[in-house]
Amino acid sequence: MAKAKNNNQQTLEMEKIVSLCKRRSFLFPASEIYGGLANSYSYGPYGVELKNNIKQLWWKKFVSQRSDVVGIDGPILLHPKMWEASGHTTGFNDALVDCKKCKKRFRADHLIEEATGEDLEGEMEKMDAAIRENEIKCPECGSFDWSEVKKFNLMFQTEMNGIDEPVYLRPETAGAIFIEFKNILNSMRVKLPFGIAQIGKAFRNEIVAGNFIFRLREFEQMEIEYFIHPETKWEPIFQNWLKLQEEFVQEVGADKKDIRRNEHEPEKLSHYSHKTVDVEYKFPFGFKELYGLAHRGDFDLTQHSKYSRENLEYYDPETKEKVTPHVLEPSFGLDRTILVALLSAYTEEEIEGETRVVMKFPKKIAPVKIAIFPLLKNKPKLVKKAQEIFEELKYSYTCEYDEVGSIGKRYRRQDEIGTPYCLTVDFDTLEKDNTVTIRDRDTMEQTRVNIKELKDYFADKL
Ligand SMILES: [Zn+2]
Repeated sequence: MAKAKNNNQQTLEMEKIVSLCKRRSFLFPASEIYGGLANSYSYGPYGVELKNNIKQLWWKKFVSQRSDVVGIDGPILLHPKMWEASGHTTGFNDALVDCKKCKKRFRADHLIEEATGEDLEGEMEKMDAAIRENEIKCPECGSFDWSEVKKFNLMFQTEMNGIDEPVYLRPETAGAIFIEFKNILNSMRVKLPFGIAQIGKAFRNEIVAGNFIFRLREFEQMEIEYFIHPETKWEPIFQNWLKLQEEFVQEVGADKKDIRRNEHEPEKLSHYSHKTVDVEYKFPFGFKELYGLAHRGDFDLTQHSKYSRENLEYYDPETKEKVTPHVLEPSFGLDRTILVALLSAYTEEEIEGETRVVMKFPKKIAPVKIAIFPLLKNKPKLVKKAQEIFEELKYSYTCEYDEVGSIGKRYRRQDEIGTPYCLTVDFDTLEKDNTVTIRDRDTMEQTRVNIKELKDYFADKL
């Protein structure tokens, strides 16, 4: 594996994002007052706005604005048998190895790949030998004293009253879609090709190696199962989904040059998959998987049909034939999308010898759209007018009222959360012409706009 050239600079870039996220209420390390819980984060007030805006953007693009996709919101706990059908109970494992000296646990394939460049994912039988032959040392303490490589199931287990077997927190959202396939067929009059979409949490008990919210044990996915007739020419549909995935990440701010495709080699594919392509993004720690697109054939419906003994075929009223559809699965990581949005937005600019940090989010995902200030907080007339404007605009846009500190400081605060417009009520507003100053986040230009025209002005800009 190619080692990063300027490691320090890249670590710095991540550190800056992590620190800004905490300082400006995007993301906090979770359970912090109890000493933290490895790699879990809470979305703070601006983080949750950003997250909701991105979810909404996705839902609009892939569900509301399409006539061939419907949405569901399934539960996190599902019938345990379904994870047998999907192969997760037996096959959803990581190969782990423990350092006997420092007791730290690693993913064996990652350890080997970092040391030798060889990717042995899924080939557990070769891993012990690879570690031995290459004398790979513990990255934590430097010793060479390993346990055997062991299989470790990635699903979180829990118990449910009245159920004898363990119940799992879903490791992906797709499952719920397949088990509601029949209900959708019966109630929605859908015709092939059609998709079922879902946004929701998923859980994987993984070894997590930092990188902020890139890999989390509790994360959110945005997934679609797109069902097609088994005899359809699927390549153009597959290509189109890939294009839409790449389009989406650019809509949250990513630069086209930071996105690439990585097609899985045929020998690495699951036995049922016709083709899998990852959309990768150039994170500060290298190109990594952002989204995935897989052609899963009829594996899922066939398996669930077998295990549930329900007929999950699709009946075509025109040709009178019954078929088990094939499925294309575009899968989007929400937390990774948010990380891309944060990294893409982060900008430092030199302004009159000072550094301005500004989050240049695309306006539609910015957590706050308009910040409203009275020039001075101890002038009741200015305050009253600013609050009136806030009361008026808050129904159309996410607004924030702020009267604390100098105008310069308030601008800096809003720049750091990426607010596209700051609006200031000053003495001219009251005494002269009923206009306010509107300052643009990106150009820093200021314009005077009459209060009566504010709604039209923002309708045009936002
Ligand atoms: Zn060690």
